[in-house]
Amino acid sequence: MEQEHLRRVDPEVYDALQNEKQREKGKIVLIASENYVSRAVLEAQGSIFTNKYAEGYPGRRYYGGCEYADQVETLALTRAKELFGAAHVNVQPHSGTQANMAVYFSFLKPGDTILGMSLNQGGHLSHGAAVNFSGVMFKSITYGVDRETGYIDYDGVRKIALEHRPRIIVAGASAYSRILDFRAFSEIAREAGAFFMADIAHIAGLVGAGLHPSPIPYADFVTTTTHKTLRGPRGGIIMCKADYGKAIDKMIFPGIQGGPLMHVIAAKAVALKEALSDDFRVYQGQVVRNAKRLAAELSSAGFRIISGGTDNHLMLVDLTGSGITGKEAEEALDRAGITVNKNAIPYDSRPPAVTSGIRLGTPCVTTRGMGEGEMSEIADIITKVLKNNKNLNEIAHLNGRVKTLCERFPVYR
Ligand SMILES: *Cc1c(COP(=O)(O)O)cnc(C)c1O
Repeated sequence: MEQEHLRRVDPEVYDALQNEKQREKGKIVLIASENYVSRAVLEAQGSIFTNKYAEGYPGRRYYGGCEYADQVETLALTRAKELFGAAHVNVQPHSGTQANMAVYFSFLKPGDTILGMSLNQGGHLSHGAAVNFSGVMFKSITYGVDRETGYIDYDGVRKIALEHRPRIIVAGASAYSRILDFRAFSEIAREAGAFFMADIAHIAGLVGAGLHPSPIPYADFVTTTTHKTLRGPRGGIIMCKADYGKAIDKMIFPGIQGGPLMHVIAAKAVALKEALSDDFRVYQGQVVRNAKRLAAELSSAGFRIISGGTDNHLMLVDLTGSGITGKEAEEALDRAGITVNKNAIPYDSRPPAVTSGIRLGTPCVTTRGMGEGEMSEIADIITKVLKNNKNLNEIAHLNGRVKTLCERFPVYR
């Protein structure tokens, strides 16, 4: 039996884990920032590397007995460099937010200005939101998308940058479905005398597979999470130009972190090896095709997709005019067995706890092996749920269709 020690020692945690297993198995997850890691990644992360203190970096640690920690961290570093073509890599950040913190703390002073995408138009908390350290310690100014097209307004970015002269410009988003023009951002940054950081947390898998242009030639710093499209363990990575490497490494340790999570770094190494495979490129291609099909079907069912569609793994669906809020949609879909998150749409008139939109992404369903045919089926279920969200009989019937899909495409075979 799996996890037999856990079951014996701590039945309560074991019980929570069994519940979570059933949840992951029995629901269709369209949360754009989630994925299912491979069994190999799980084995590395659930390993005895968690026992080891390894403050420092390979070859220069502050503890004895680090030879195998060195071995595994070196593998992660080499593979990240190969996948992304970066000059310098740090695989120790505990999260994407921590990666961004290290960049800011290395090159900004408190009170300096960050120009990032506004949170309510698709940006991330760590790009200067008022409730996040990045907005508390630094001055935050934001750019957004064009109201008509839903695309980033690059002329607007340039105007704001030249007016406010930020110390750093951040490109990257959590709810933007179009290609990011890293070259345009870098030119604006150069003109404004700012550093340029690309945060590819969401799209790292697509970038690794060559399906989204890479920021590496243009950005001073590239940060990412490892657990979204990249399909690795929960964590972060920083990549930068060689000249900045020393400052970044010093800021991660001893600046803002202590010992690295060696079991997570081992799992990052495994995920990066997987990401270098042909299978991974095929997978990412299917993620994008699935997103395009889902967006097209929802669009023909009468829902407006922000910007008219998607170039990547996600889309924002505008529910204005469909008589249902983002919050109600999230709840109704959950009852039908489909997990999504409500999400503000650009220029949303409803508060963030309600919203007028939902964000949908295809990394999870694609990992389960679903293709475009299943996206059409899911779009039809979503449409019927949203149009009959008060009809519990209909929702129960739709939940049956969800269950059939889940049984046909198990998460872990
Ligand atoms: C998810 C995300 C992050 C941060 O991730 P955590 O690991 O949750 O801190 C940073 N930037 C962007 C754009 C993201 O989408």
